[in-house]
Amino acid sequence: MNPSGPALYDAVLLDRDGTLVEDVPYNGDPEKVGPLPGAREALDRLRAAGLRLAVVTNQSGLARGYFTEREMHAVHARIEELLGPFDHWAICPHDDTDGCACRKPAPGLVHEAARALGTAPRRCVLIGDIGRDMAAALAAGATGILVPTPVTRPEEVAEAPAVARDLPGAVAEILRRDRAVRPVVPRTGRAGTVLVARSDAAGDLLVTGPGIRAVAAGAERVVLLCGPRGRAAAELLPGVDEIIEWPLPWIDAPAPPVDPAGMRSLVDRLAAVRADEAVVFTSFHQSPLPLALLLRMAGVPHISAISDDYPGSLLDVRHRVPVGVPEPERALSLAAAAGFALPAGDEPGLRLRADRLPPAPAAAGEPGYVVLHPGSSVETRACPFELATRIVRVLSAAGYRVVVTGGPDERELTAQVAAAGGLDLGGRTGLGELAAVVARAGALVVGNTGPAHLAAALGVPVVSLFAPTVPFGQWGPYRVPTVRLGDAGAACRDTRAVRCPVPGHPCLSAVEPGRVLEALRLLGVPADASEPLVTVPGGVVG
Ligand SMILES: [Zn+2]
Repeated sequence: MNPSGPALYDAVLLDRDGTLVEDVPYNGDPEKVGPLPGAREALDRLRAAGLRLAVVTNQSGLARGYFTEREMHAVHARIEELLGPFDHWAICPHDDTDGCACRKPAPGLVHEAARALGTAPRRCVLIGDIGRDMAAALAAGATGILVPTPVTRPEEVAEAPAVARDLPGAVAEILRRDRAVRPVVPRTGRAGTVLVARSDAAGDLLVTGPGIRAVAAGAERVVLLCGPRGRAAAELLPGVDEIIEWPLPWIDAPAPPVDPAGMRSLVDRLAAVRADEAVVFTSFHQSPLPLALLLRMAGVPHISAISDDYPGSLLDVRHRVPVGVPEPERALSLAAAAGFALPAGDEPGLRLRADRLPPAPAAAGEPGYVVLHPGSSVETRACPFELATRIVRVLSAAGYRVVVTGGPDERELTAQVAAAGGLDLGGRTGLGELAAVVARAGALVVGNTGPAHLAAALGVPVVSLFAPTVPFGQWGPYRVPTVRLGDAGAACRDTRAVRCPVPGHPCLSAVEPGRVLEALRLLGVPADASEPLVTVPGGVVG
């Protein structure tokens, strides 16, 4: 692959039946192997790009006696004859009644394949045709791309983190994503002072972290402009040398009025940075152009941003990104368009500065608890109160120690939720303390809100109660073991609503608390653990 910047992935894992070859139920006959259209060429593109390939397949026909192991190997030899060699075959021979750790949706085959290929699940992408494939990928912390067939259920399509029309389409998307985070024209020398901007809330700052680290790797000095709601997260980001906190009336919510004198002061403050260039990070619904104008007035000579709107002379690099790209990769792709890439060895995941984390409050107790964070500044993204209470009751009955967290304005909520059998830390954690509490957890149960990204940065598995108001593939926890719960096809889907448009918030309130218990088991988080079971090495940097 292109040597500039580390690749997003080392390996592609492929489901067998319905993804690589036509699904002939319990096939033990090599003569019946039929590759899907374009499969050979698509796989060869991956091989040519240096990606290793493994098949991850449930073959319960073995347990049920429908074919022998010898017949299965003959089928696999025929598949390799038609589609080329695979670097590993990960096979689950069990059926549902065996309760094994490898049958998808369990993540065992993904772990096995990653190990056999000498990599980690977070550096793998799994292509499959049903929900079980996607669940296994997410539970291992891998990326999932669904290639639906006529038998794929609509809810499986709705839940998938990404959907491609077919295998060649999925392969094209993998290669496109990988190219997008590498500079077309790598820098020859270091940039001087680069002003990076990301307004909005803590979670937005955290998902922009990889993009900021890429800039920092190629700059002498990085000055970050953020808003008041993102300040605490900005303090935890590696690569930032100085922070300017300033609310922007076209981004922050609630938006402050535009004060002409305030805007003039901001221009003066930006000019004092004497930046050689600026990289303005935004979400897809935010415009970088008002800030670009102020940066121009402050004399910044070179400005890069993502803008579908015509930027006139406000931008030197006008970058475009297709919808649905994970936010961290969106930020990395803007950095790449500006000529910056992560250095070799820096994983493209979220990270925090370990040296800035305070100790966890002693009240949290020994590590290994499960954190439930029910609140959110955005109503639709919170865990409904009733559900949160029932989750605490069910988890504590199953032997889990539950720690309930929330901001200073959520004390009443957390007290009521924790009364069902958890420990209440509501209002007792700033963002740093919250990170320290989450870092010692076996898992975090949370809506689509900032703490989910803290967990991703700390390598702590997430049970994500994800309202489908925004795309899961874009805003879901990035590169960390995750189970997604909630009705992904609910009427609020893609509405970006901040208040639930459907009475009763059915996308989340209909979740059965027992599903959270199942999710924790799928993630391998034991009850009453004294140590967090799953850790991602290198999730925290010093
Ligand atoms: Zn198995």
